[in-house]
Amino acid sequence: MNNTVPAVRKLVSLSFPHSISSQPMVCNLARIYNLCFNILRAQITPRQEGFLTLEIFGSEEDYNRGIDYLKQQGIKIAPAAQHVARDEDSCTHCGMCTAICPTHALALDMKTRRIIFNADKCSACGMCTRICPVRAMSLDVDYGALE
Ligand code: SF4
Ligand code: SF4
Repeated sequence: MNNTVPAVRKLVSLSFPHSISSQPMVCNLARIYNLCFNILRAQITPRQEGFLTLEIFGSEEDYNRGIDYLKQQGIKIAPAAQHVARDEDSCTHCGMCTAICPTHALALDMKTRRIIFNADKCSACGMCTRICPVRAMSLDVDYGALE
């Protein structure tokens, strides 16, 4: 991966027909396009159609090349919506998340010395869900058309 290119993290929903479900196309994202991915959801319908929700990491260039490759294989791709929420009872207002939140959706209220979460500013990047020591931040994926 080219370290000079900012990394991206995307959530996408893939749907594909049975005729191509046995091919290693998703593995090729890593093998050929240098992308890392987590499979958040996998489903095969009774008609043998496949649905996957992937969290993909990589450079913008590799991501675009990988998505073009999948489309060329006949896979339909749509962004997977996501929603970030905070469990107010769990949050200890330690402040760790404010250091990594790129949009300042999590910030210190100087008056109360508590951490406020402004959902309107949140880009749903998911970084706070990984750093929060008490897992107060959660990210829900809207599987939309996959249901
Ligand atoms: S890291 Fe977690 S516990 Fe700490 S302020 Fe942020 S949400 Fe609250
Ligand atoms: S998901 Fe990203 S943008 Fe939203 S609050 Fe967490 S770190 Fe900030």
